[in-house]
Amino acid sequence: MSRDPRYDILFEPVKIGPVTAPNRFYQVPHCNVLGHGRPRAEAANRAVKAEGGWGVICTQEVEIHPSSELTPFIEGRLWDDRDIPQHRLMTDAVHEYGALTGIELVYNAFHATNHYSRIAPMAPSAMPAHGVNPVQARAMSKRDIADLRRWYVDAAKRSRKAGYDIVYVYCGHNMTVLQHFLKPQYNQRSDEYGGSLENRVRLTKEILVEVKEAVGHDCAVAFRFATDELMGAHGLQAESEGRDIVAMLAEIPDLWDVNVSDWGNDSSTARFEPNEGYQEPYTAFVKTLTSKPVVGVGRFTSADAMVSQISRGVLDLIGAARPSIADPFLPRKIDQGRIDEIRECIGCNICVAQDNLAAPIRCTQNPTQGEEWKQGWHPERIDAAASDDAVLVVGGGPAGLECALQLANRGYAVTLAEASETLGGRVSRESELPGMASYARVRDYRENLLRQKQNVDIYLDNRLGAQDIVDLEIPHVLLATGSSWRRDGVGRQHHYPLPGVDQVRVLTPDDVFRGEALAGKVLIYDDDHYFMGSTLAELCRNRGHEVCLLTPESRVSVWTDNTLEQSKIQQRVLLLGVEVIVSHRLLSLAPGVATVANVYADDQQQQLAFDSLLLVTSRDSQDALYQELLAFADRFKTLRAIGDCNAPGTVAAAVYDGHSAARYLESDQDVYAPLFTREIPALD
Ligand code: ADP
Ligand code: SF4
Repeated sequence: MSRDPRYDILFEPVKIGPVTAPNRFYQVPHCNVLGHGRPRAEAANRAVKAEGGWGVICTQEVEIHPSSELTPFIEGRLWDDRDIPQHRLMTDAVHEYGALTGIELVYNAFHATNHYSRIAPMAPSAMPAHGVNPVQARAMSKRDIADLRRWYVDAAKRSRKAGYDIVYVYCGHNMTVLQHFLKPQYNQRSDEYGGSLENRVRLTKEILVEVKEAVGHDCAVAFRFATDELMGAHGLQAESEGRDIVAMLAEIPDLWDVNVSDWGNDSSTARFEPNEGYQEPYTAFVKTLTSKPVVGVGRFTSADAMVSQISRGVLDLIGAARPSIADPFLPRKIDQGRIDEIRECIGCNICVAQDNLAAPIRCTQNPTQGEEWKQGWHPERIDAAASDDAVLVVGGGPAGLECALQLANRGYAVTLAEASETLGGRVSRESELPGMASYARVRDYRENLLRQKQNVDIYLDNRLGAQDIVDLEIPHVLLATGSSWRRDGVGRQHHYPLPGVDQVRVLTPDDVFRGEALAGKVLIYDDDHYFMGSTLAELCRNRGHEVCLLTPESRVSVWTDNTLEQSKIQQRVLLLGVEVIVSHRLLSLAPGVATVANVYADDQQQQLAFDSLLLVTSRDSQDALYQELLAFADRFKTLRAIGDCNAPGTVAAAVYDGHSAARYLESDQDVYAPLFTREIPALD
């Protein structure tokens, strides 16, 4: 297939200062926690996107000095010349595919707490450091400012030596010293670096000019700037100082990389920003104030939306972090007219969560993400089948769908049996929850491709029992039969069934999905802490119920701190009128009434009346079929439980497990493969 001429504009080269991007697909800087601890994995992770057609590939934030370091987060590091060779791995690998490389140099100032270097962090004015760490930042002296300017220039020169084409000056996400200088809340200096906007911008301008002088003859200098903090008058606004700053610096950088701050707003999940291009209202003005190219983001996954940004003069380059993570081959697929093969990001922020957990990147939609070097996985290639054997996959949820698709890609004859009348399993159900519609993409991408395969037979409405499976005489059987929510209250707080649970009508999320009636006041007990409790609270409020959301944690959906959603979720449920009770657990149940206790003081109890009780605690694997089949194990070459049937987890974990099972079918490698390919520090 060939490219639709409507998309030709996306493949035009763009001049960025002294360098030229081969097309308009621009992977903006994003973290992957491979970084300086795993440089081979880092290089492979970025190179695959260049292979997939992205014209510019950037690093994650790269520390320029030990006085601002991010331990325990393993991002990029360029403290001195000894760090250059590992960057070379990345730039060489990316250049092989003709893409440009960009490096996001960062000085995080009070956003870094320096757990490794133990150097006191700095800030424009003295203030507590990031988070709740018992660390304070000291005010930068004039000498510190001079040092910072020199460190930036030194790092820029090292970047050029390392082979980068674009060097960033980074001022965004509320994480960087230059943004801190811009903000009056953080900058209360009385010298020429504080006070008026011109003074607050001074340091940024000096560094931009000096970096340009140092490397600008052969590297482009990009300025990454958050035009708005989405805090109204309490923060920087695109309509006032944001605009003024762009006007003041307009022609200095070779490239404007614009977004909104903080990170939670920039990388907003689909639950809170369902639409592509959601940053346009805050960044569209930039092109009116500069002649330099502008790149911006907005979870762009459709070629039409991208073309619209270019042709309406909003952006010159289509920036993407998450869309490039979900599909490193997105540009190639547009180029080759394979639009329906694009694996669209679902906006879940599991990738971001990994960063917040200081763990290597993963992605719900793309199970190969982060595994390019460690397991040698490629997002578009997989080994051919090892035999002519047939394979049976039981269950068409995320695990079963991914497993079946990859087995089919390998060339196996695949039978996929699904008990219900639709594919998708949990994502089909969960995508009906408020704000979760995009989760259906996990199903749609795979179902669409599976339906086009000649070597796949899909049987819906087909609940298989153990004897059915034995009778089929298919040598390889993978059980992806999922999980179900417990109705006895067992979870993190309660290791035994709740006292009185057998005396009340308990509902679980599965019951709600099945359409069981809820009545009157709904008490939701959330001991799961991800999205389920709060989305059900929203759903019940939307249906007009009075809702009480009870959680043993101190905040609702507390794990979503990692996906950058927690504060937005808590705000949303409060605005919806949900009664929120935190730090309390269920003690016992009786008809219509729950006794709850403070988790820190069991004798501080209260009684809560309810009409419906919804328990969101933990899940049981639906592995009865697998257990039954183990008695016939000698009839199969492969008999394996995958996804939630193996152990309930995230959708990302289920997709990964399905992928891994397919990749390693009939191979001597298995789930323990990652043990054997590790980056072990050399002792020199
Ligand atoms: P996962 O997240 O691991 O993919 P899901 O719960 O999303 O798990 O999906 C499991 C799927 O398996 C569901 O669609 C369910 O209907 C199907 N299923 C469960 N038991 C059987 C069975 N015995 N035969 C066929 N399909 C089954
Ligand atoms: Fe998109 Fe989720 Fe993948 Fe991140 S993890 S790239 S948000 S699909």
